[in-house]
Amino acid sequence: MPGFVGYRCSLCGERYAPNEVTYTCPADSGNLDVVLDYADLQRRLAPGAIEASEDFSIWRYLPLLPVEDPGHVGTPLRAVGWTPLFQPERLAAKAGVPRLWLKDDGRNPTASFKDRASAVVVARAQQVGARVVVTASTGNAGAALAGMAAAAGQPAVILAPKTAPAAKVAQLLMFGARVFLVDGTYDQAFDLTLEAAGEFGWYCRNTGYNPFTAEGKKTVAFEICEQFTRGRAGGDAARRGWEAPDAIFVSVGDGNIISGLHKGLKDLLALGWIERMPRLFGIQSTGSAAIYNAFVRGNETIEPVSATTMADSISVDLPRDGVRAVRAARETQGAYLAVSDDDILAAMRDLAREAAVFAEPAGATAYAGLVRAQQEGRLHPEWRVLVLNTGNGLKDVRAAMQASGQAAVISPTLSALRKAVSIG
Ligand SMILES: *Cc1c(COP(=O)(O)O)cnc(C)c1O
Ligand SMILES: [Zn+2]
Repeated sequence: MPGFVGYRCSLCGERYAPNEVTYTCPADSGNLDVVLDYADLQRRLAPGAIEASEDFSIWRYLPLLPVEDPGHVGTPLRAVGWTPLFQPERLAAKAGVPRLWLKDDGRNPTASFKDRASAVVVARAQQVGARVVVTASTGNAGAALAGMAAAAGQPAVILAPKTAPAAKVAQLLMFGARVFLVDGTYDQAFDLTLEAAGEFGWYCRNTGYNPFTAEGKKTVAFEICEQFTRGRAGGDAARRGWEAPDAIFVSVGDGNIISGLHKGLKDLLALGWIERMPRLFGIQSTGSAAIYNAFVRGNETIEPVSATTMADSISVDLPRDGVRAVRAARETQGAYLAVSDDDILAAMRDLAREAAVFAEPAGATAYAGLVRAQQEGRLHPEWRVLVLNTGNGLKDVRAAMQASGQAAVISPTLSALRKAVSIG
């Protein structure tokens, strides 16, 4: 918190003080980057001090976050992040990428990456005394907000498309948020949420709008580098720097995860805690590829599409953080790739069968992108490559069954089983 000195507009570069603005740039509606006082942080903090922390959650990085400690110790709000980092040997062999790591953010309290953002937004909401927090969501952002709000006793309102997977809607309702299912798209829910926040005085969490979501999401960059280093060398309180992988693959809808990841890495680079920026590869579905299209055209103009992918968490007509998302790949010598829904279903099977990670379609999209990148010869064989799974497969069982196929139904007799086994 003491390191939080204000915001900078990602479009016009204008600076604002911490309490001067709430959401986007008043001049051009650009997304705001949170500005930290790196020189001050460098004096007060070293990577080794964080490594010595016993807090195995995003809150071990509190000095690098623009919020005060939210409290609520002993609740799931304190259990967000520090998700496992695996080295899946069989998956690596199958993908032909020998130095492969897999980070599973499906193992967050509400089973998606979005908990990182919602935890930090709830901390901010409590700090500014918000009565109600509202968000538009394809499902996961809302589930995460509902869950974190339940942990903090913070009233929450969620607007989601009525086509959201049942498990996600069940989460919203179970956590006690007020839930409104919009007979329309995520994009329509998004615009309605902005109107409602203005009308009712609610604090708005919307992705690619509230500057604190990317700050929560940037914690994954810190974890990746810290875990990557500890895994190779063990904990070391005297350590002065961390290592980053050479390439990171992440799925992209609104573009806020990749922007947050990029921001966290830029923080580490500015602090001198890592030496090189990894290449960031953003993966979209061909059925929802507005950011990919801009990247391929070589500009930052995000043209809306009519999204059709079965990967509901990345099904977005007009990505709200597209400009920063394009830059994340361009400025790091990474790239965007688009994969089909069939590629995504195959990725779900490979992740589950070769690495025992059950991902929802949008989560598996990152791995589908890695397979594509490898086929296209975009990866150097020496690169250490990290793939991020962003959501748990139980979030969308219908999609999972599409990937896995159905089980045979048999009579409860050995002869029926023998017959079925010989066929199967
Ligand atoms: C939200 C989400 C994404 C995409 O994040 P954006 O910030 O919208 O790009 C990817 N995977 C899952 C599981 C998500 O919930
Ligand atoms: Zn601006």
